[in-house]
Amino acid sequence: MDEDSLAPVIQEIKGALQDMDEEKLREELNKYLMYGINLREARNAIIRKYGGRPNTASIGTLDLKDLTGAENNFDVIVRCMGCSERMLKTQNGEKPLVIGLLADRTMIRRFSSWEGHMLEKGRTYVIHGASARPFRGEVEISLGPYATFEEPEEDPLADLDVGGLPRYGPLVQVKLKDIHHGMGNVEVVGKIIGMEEKTITANDSPKRIIDGMMADETKRLRFTCWSELPYNVGDVIRVKGAYVKDWRGIPQVNFDERAEIDLLEDVEIDIEGSRRLNAEDLQFAGATDVEVRGVLIEIREGSGLIFRCPVCNRALTSGTCAVHSEQEGVPDLRVKVVIDDGTGSLFAVLNTEITEELLCMDVPECVRKYGTTDGRELIEQLNKRLLGRTFVLRGNVIKDDFGSTMLPGSISEDEFPYMDEVKSILETMEGY
Ligand SMILES: [Zn+2]
Repeated sequence: MDEDSLAPVIQEIKGALQDMDEEKLREELNKYLMYGINLREARNAIIRKYGGRPNTASIGTLDLKDLTGAENNFDVIVRCMGCSERMLKTQNGEKPLVIGLLADRTMIRRFSSWEGHMLEKGRTYVIHGASARPFRGEVEISLGPYATFEEPEEDPLADLDVGGLPRYGPLVQVKLKDIHHGMGNVEVVGKIIGMEEKTITANDSPKRIIDGMMADETKRLRFTCWSELPYNVGDVIRVKGAYVKDWRGIPQVNFDERAEIDLLEDVEIDIEGSRRLNAEDLQFAGATDVEVRGVLIEIREGSGLIFRCPVCNRALTSGTCAVHSEQEGVPDLRVKVVIDDGTGSLFAVLNTEITEELLCMDVPECVRKYGTTDGRELIEQLNKRLLGRTFVLRGNVIKDDFGSTMLPGSISEDEFPYMDEVKSILETMEGY
């Protein structure tokens, strides 16, 4: 257990006692832990030793469906449905976060742990000292430093039918544009605008799935159906009990035989505007093959003629790759831009082809002309060509911890109703 996880515990012990030296407490706590005593017991033993009264009472065993997100120190009896670890960037470098799914007889919920509590898929655990917290609109179980586990000899959930459980809580009706990573049990209505059958390998055996696109008035989303889908392109369907997965921050709707799927014969959906999305909505979730129309308000550093690492393709800084040190760079062109469409701004990276087109110049020509310069002249050209003008960008928008990034496959210039207004703002800004 690292120092980070001990700090809050030491604060708790200090809070329960008076005039205790922090270093002394840390030493004492480490001694208990070295003897294999779990953190909760160690904390309580120290508090008792110095005359304090630990607050030890668990609030008892709770059902997953009853959690509201405010509970601390409770027990659950659950089966782990899956568990994985990933590295996340924190203020003090990278830290592993364990995430997974837990099921009891009432429902399935997500859990997370910064303490490396890996659970084994398919096993049943009695977990003591769990807490619940709201996360992205749902309740998540958090396994903190106090959490301990027991594997009961006789599995109390041996006959649990996970297939019959609701995923992450009550059914929520949503428009496609409001769908985001981590949502479970959603109800969507959409028109099938494309579908194809595929065979994939799941649990070592081939499985037929249906991959498709659906759209409503607000957005188009990819879907995967893991069961029969006896409908056609153009049909409007309602799916109750779908869940959401994502790929590079682009949400996808998934459903299987547990979902209730209906054909809505009398419903017409106008999907005309479903490709055009707002910058504001795209901050919330990524998207495939969308259009954004806005004014190009900024060209960011790192644009123009760049040199890439021949090993990993990262852009070099003064001839140096962050990973592979000094390298003979491979020249490339790109423009990092910010587009404003009136609802908000969106960061986009224009690729080689688009940049060549905008400059009316290909990469080798650019190297001949600007390869030995500081590149300022080229940026000037890009500024003149792009800044303050309105473009329609079409492509994918991916999303990660740092925000959304559009990777347009094409862009075209367009007139924009707010053009004059934005121009005057830019002119005012130039005055400063
Ligand atoms: Zn490299």
